[in-house]
Amino acid sequence: MPKPKMNRVINFGAGPATLPLEILEQAQAELLDWRGTGMSIMELGHRTEIFTEYLHETEQKLRELLTIPNNYRILFLHGGARAQFAMVPQNLLANKHGADYLDIGIWSQKAIAEAQLFCDVNIVASSKDNNYTSIPTPDTWQLKPTAAYFHYTSNETINGIECTFIPEVGDVPIVVDMTSDILSMPIDVSRFGLIYASAQKNIGIAGLAVVIIREDLLARSSTATTVPSLYNYAIQAEQHSLYNTPASFAIYIASLMFAWLQRQGGLTKIAELNQRKATKLYHAIDHSNGFYRNDIAKPYRSKMNVVFNMQTTQLEQQFLAAATAANLVALKGHRELGGLRASIYNAMPMSSVDTLIDFMKVFQQKHS
Ligand SMILES: *Cc1c(COP(=O)(O)O)cnc(C)c1O
Repeated sequence: MPKPKMNRVINFGAGPATLPLEILEQAQAELLDWRGTGMSIMELGHRTEIFTEYLHETEQKLRELLTIPNNYRILFLHGGARAQFAMVPQNLLANKHGADYLDIGIWSQKAIAEAQLFCDVNIVASSKDNNYTSIPTPDTWQLKPTAAYFHYTSNETINGIECTFIPEVGDVPIVVDMTSDILSMPIDVSRFGLIYASAQKNIGIAGLAVVIIREDLLARSSTATTVPSLYNYAIQAEQHSLYNTPASFAIYIASLMFAWLQRQGGLTKIAELNQRKATKLYHAIDHSNGFYRNDIAKPYRSKMNVVFNMQTTQLEQQFLAAATAANLVALKGHRELGGLRASIYNAMPMSSVDTLIDFMKVFQQKHS
């Protein structure tokens, strides 16, 4: 078979998102014979010793990267973050009736809508009235001390806004959807009851959700007898994510990503780089004399998803077409929001951000 000509583009897609080339190359090299098994990891039994050890090794890598304390369990589950929208209330309500949710964007809203199937949702605050361009100040939040948990989205992938602080909510356990910013910086895991994330943004590929749950909260699932076994945190924890057949290939890519992050110097280093990438791109937007525009309150601008608009949608269409022709793809904003968006997760190198900025400048010169 002739080798196809390689023409990798710079992919600013929000998810599935770009992966480091060296991970793809390693996966390619190991595809037919993984670790001397004579087969690919996709074909390997999930209850073999080599796979169960690999799963453990992968967990350890994540534990080290994020410095996850020993009283937290790591689960590798199917169904992405959307499954967690339902699993969280199903498992964590226990004998309570309601939960607190912070509404700071479209993913918050979707999590709220799903939770409403299972419980009374108290929206503690919402920035919907200002089109999700800011975070409501915490002293205005209507928290309920009786809530089973408090839920928020740390980075709103669609709106391009991030909650740059961990909320103070007393003794109520904090549940966070970290799908689009997990592993982008160090975090204090001990502040959370449960952290969840789909893999296809900052961890790897679709088909996997990573859940980090404080051990004491597993007791709540044990009492939740109406939760299907597959969706029961306690059962999944007891079975070490092997209650059903896990998404083995997605776990493998995640494992390669964890090792890659370590090689980059860990999360402190990655966070510095992410900050520099975002600062540079926002600077270019802010210094375009209004040709490009970002309306998010500055302290809350997302470091992962940089949204921007131009004066007309027609100009935005021209921008997208010209960008694609220049191999800069998937810069279109989310279908519910329009505009433009550059997702610059861990795997996006500074050089690609520079290429985008250069392109934006040239486009502006031609069109103003
Ligand atoms: C993408 C995304 C989701 C949904 O992920 P799925 O894998 O499609 O379930 C949920 N929350 C956030 C913050 C996201 O970015």
